[in-house]
Amino acid sequence: MATAVKAEGYGHGLLRVARTLDADAFAVACIEEALTLREAGVDRPILLLEGVFEASELPLCARHGLAITVHHPEQVLMLERARLEYPLRVWLKVDSGMHRLGLQPETVAAIYRRLRNCPAVVPEMGLMSHLARADERDCAATLQQLQTFNAATAGLPGERSLANSAGILGWPQAHFDWVRPGIMLYGASPFVDSRAADENLRPVMTLSTRLIAINRLRQGEAVGYGGTWICPEDMDVGVAAIGYGDGYPRHAPSGTPVLVNGREAALIGRVSMDMITLDLRQHPAAQIGDPVVLWGEGLPVERIAQAAGTISYVLLCGITARVRVEAISTARPVA
Ligand SMILES: *Cc1c(COP(=O)(O)O)cnc(C)c1O
Repeated sequence: MATAVKAEGYGHGLLRVARTLDADAFAVACIEEALTLREAGVDRPILLLEGVFEASELPLCARHGLAITVHHPEQVLMLERARLEYPLRVWLKVDSGMHRLGLQPETVAAIYRRLRNCPAVVPEMGLMSHLARADERDCAATLQQLQTFNAATAGLPGERSLANSAGILGWPQAHFDWVRPGIMLYGASPFVDSRAADENLRPVMTLSTRLIAINRLRQGEAVGYGGTWICPEDMDVGVAAIGYGDGYPRHAPSGTPVLVNGREAALIGRVSMDMITLDLRQHPAAQIGDPVVLWGEGLPVERIAQAAGTISYVLLCGITARVRVEAISTARPVA
């Protein structure tokens, strides 16, 4: 299992996650992330999912024992020209149909043979690809990708890897030798039509704050920037100390759920940088200092993503540096 810890461990903190998860290997998007792990003493295998962006990164990969993806003929040339202290572990990435990164399927066997004879490369190479639509349950395109991947790599020795979280949960025939879970390890569902609990996942992150003001407003008074919410009656409006400066989505509309003292309340008005406003009509006992949960335990992040027209990945990754982390819960192992 190569655990995706890119983008600050999906917003949970790169080192915090790397030190918490007992992964066989870590997958990152760029050399900066890999070097941060190595500098902190993480000695597990690390894979650069996009490989190197320029030839000058290759000696660093050799020195720090970083495995690289090779997805473009340009990267093959870089390796053939390189003189390295140690050969690199390489994963050949096939474009099996996503059409983002990957070698053309019909070129894979020839490139495999070239790199087998390249002194900069460990001869035992891995073979990988990425699924574009694994989050759709019955998808002909995913079956086609499997077929293309199998055909392009037929007869080539080496470990194989295809599945992200959606592939792991939805497509057993895509598991092969290495799976590459990301979002599921953080306790969110990769599927558009399910929530974490449906997949037997528990949220790792709970984003919470407190009420810092409760104001009695009169019917007709407008709340917040733009005055987009008008009180339909005299009512209590709560102010919670969280906003887009913390990573709460600015485009979350009035009606987006939050938990006040563990019970649902609705966001009203615009999200500010540091604050949001809440309809407290159903919370007559609420007091300044009471806990407010934005997502996590008791409030699936998928619901907020849906309300705000985005996906849980974006919300988790968007947590900013000023948010204080109090603890990390270790996710229950999943099959
Ligand atoms: C990010 C990434 C993953 C993990 O994806 P999830 O959907 O979070 O499970 C796997 N493989 C590659 C190539 C990735 O870039």
